[in-house]
Amino acid sequence: MSFDMPCSKCNKKCSETEGTVCDLCHHPIHFNCGGITKAEKACLQNKNRRIQYFCDRSNLSSVIDGLKDEIASLKAEVKELKNIHSNKSNPEFGKNHQLSQDELLEEIEDRHNRSCNVILYNLKESDKETGALRKEDDVIRCKELLFSNTHDDDITYI
Ligand SMILES: [Zn+2]
Ligand SMILES: [Zn+2]
Repeated sequence: MSFDMPCSKCNKKCSETEGTVCDLCHHPIHFNCGGITKAEKACLQNKNRRIQYFCDRSNLSSVIDGLKDEIASLKAEVKELKNIHSNKSNPEFGKNHQLSQDELLEEIEDRHNRSCNVILYNLKESDKETGALRKEDDVIRCKELLFSNTHDDDITYI
C-alpha cells in the first residue's frame, strides 16, 4: 500500500488504520478527509473488499473523457485499416475506383457493342496520308481476306 505518502486532502501522515487508498491515483486519504462513513470504512477495510474508492482529486469524468477520446481514435484507426484491407482485396472497386452507376451502364453497353466485333491481327498498315484513305485501304484488305481463298489455318478464334 502507499501509506508512505501523506493524505491527499490534508497533506498529513495517514496510516492504514486512519484511512484508505484511492483506487485510481493510489494516494492515501484519511477516512474523515474523504467523508467516509463508518459503514463504508468497514467495507473498505474488509480484506475481500468489492468496493472501490476514488478521491476527489481523481476526477473520474476526466478519466472517462480521456478513455472516450482513446476509443474514438481507435475506432477511426480500425475503420481506416478496414478501408485499406478492402481496397487491397478488391483493387478494381477500391475507394478511388468506385464506378458510378452511369459509368457501369456505359461499360455494360460498350461490352455489348463489342461482343460481335471481329478483330484482325497482323494486317499491314496502310501508308496513305489521311485517315479516310487508310480506312478505304483497310476495307479493301478486309474484303480481300474475308472473300478470298483464305486458309482456315490463317484464322485463330479467341
Ligand atoms: Zn487527511
Ligand atoms: Zn485519487
